[in-house]
Amino acid sequence: MIVKFWGVRGSIPAPPTPSALKERLKAALTMAFEAKPDPARLNEFLDGLPDRLVSTVGGNTPCLEITEGEDILIIDAGTGINALGRKLSFDNVDPEADRIRYLVESQNHYMPEASPLFPGSRILHLDILLTHTHWDHIQGFPFFAPIYQVGNSMDIYGRSASQMREALSLQQSSPLLFPIRLEEAGATINFHDFPDGVLSLGPFEIEALPLPHPGGSLAFKVRSHGRTLVFATDYEFVANDQSERSEAALAKFLDQADVFISDTQYTFLESMTKEGWGHSSPLKVAEMALNAGVGKFFLFHHDPLYSDLKLYDMLERTTAFTHLLNNGHSMLVDLAIEGREIEV
Ligand SMILES: [Zn+2]
Ligand SMILES: [Zn+2]
Repeated sequence: MIVKFWGVRGSIPAPPTPSALKERLKAALTMAFEAKPDPARLNEFLDGLPDRLVSTVGGNTPCLEITEGEDILIIDAGTGINALGRKLSFDNVDPEADRIRYLVESQNHYMPEASPLFPGSRILHLDILLTHTHWDHIQGFPFFAPIYQVGNSMDIYGRSASQMREALSLQQSSPLLFPIRLEEAGATINFHDFPDGVLSLGPFEIEALPLPHPGGSLAFKVRSHGRTLVFATDYEFVANDQSERSEAALAKFLDQADVFISDTQYTFLESMTKEGWGHSSPLKVAEMALNAGVGKFFLFHHDPLYSDLKLYDMLERTTAFTHLLNNGHSMLVDLAIEGREIEV
């Protein structure tokens, strides 16, 4: 399985600020003044700079694409799903699609008659899992090009079919919130309660686990070709019996997962002041993951107010903490970064 991160921020999109970019440039220039690179070999110097100076963790809200060969599974529909939709609908199709892509990109919010705008797009069937319907996990859906193609079909799975339909329809109520109603979009969209037990979709075997979060959220375990990914976002464990039972259930759900992508929105200190907000902090999650024998742990659902440098600092502290715990099992720790693909 390959997982691509299309959106990794929580709560609200967080584009890089001008001051953050300036800070990054200042740090890179300082390194250049020290290293005095040969102007003819500037590319080599730039390639040697750390990611935190030449890239960005990303500002879109949650969306993951999981692929196994030609098969695709999408999790969550935050703003990251917009770019994924353009890739799925238009990449490597009819040249006419370039013109249409321009129309979509330049007039994204002006689609008087949705379906005829997309004659060059690929016909798709898509399976989508929704952890829950908080806005940061669905707000990209009205800008997801495949919903405007007649002939496309989608199956959306989550905690409650009726709640998902209600939430997605509500954010496309026309004309107050969006120009095109969900029912007018063109694609056939079916909503499903996540079934008890295992859901098989192509090569993917999927299980779900309820998580404690205001309104609830679902963790997903995706297995394919003997590899296991667990994705758990928007959850918080506190000191009470029910929460402890939920924590034990997630630890069991995680058992020996090859990759674990988890909500780690707040630093440990900040999590103390945000009890009840429904999010986790990396040290506590890292300890659970380490004890469950996870192979690789990714910090996810980054706080929109945290700079990239702060996120890299959290990564360093979490990595150091797992080395300190050292229970004889080595677990790699990394940041979920928009645009990055990881192999499970
Ligand atoms: Zn969220
Ligand atoms: Zn939430």
